[in-house]
Amino acid sequence: MKCPKCNGDMESVQYEDIEVDRCTSCEGIWFDMLEADKLRTMSGSEAIDTGDPKLGREYDDIHNVICPKCQTQMIHMVDRRKPYIQYEACTVCYGLFFDAGEFRQFKHQTVLDFFRNLSARSRKK
Ligand SMILES: [Zn+2]
Ligand SMILES: [Zn+2]
Repeated sequence: MKCPKCNGDMESVQYEDIEVDRCTSCEGIWFDMLEADKLRTMSGSEAIDTGDPKLGREYDDIHNVICPKCQTQMIHMVDRRKPYIQYEACTVCYGLFFDAGEFRQFKHQTVLDFFRNLSARSRKK
């Protein structure tokens, strides 16, 4: 598989029972459907995101991204409340592409939200 952003070679990276593809050049990471959701709940999984976030931000400007699995134009996702979290999503095969450093942010943010929700809930009691 070729990287949808820089056309570099992707290599398989395994974390427990989940295998993702990481670009050997820009270190962006491809997740098949639901892999990102599963991985972000697993402790230590941010270890797969080895790339430099500075390099990842340079690739944020590339928005014309074609899904490497099904050749569909991917859509650029930005979380309105957390605009620094950006990634590409395929609306056909539900694959996700994160630039270097983005999966760490994605995961970190979820953990923070989780604790925020917990404290919000305990306050209501
Ligand atoms: Zn790449
Ligand atoms: Zn696709």
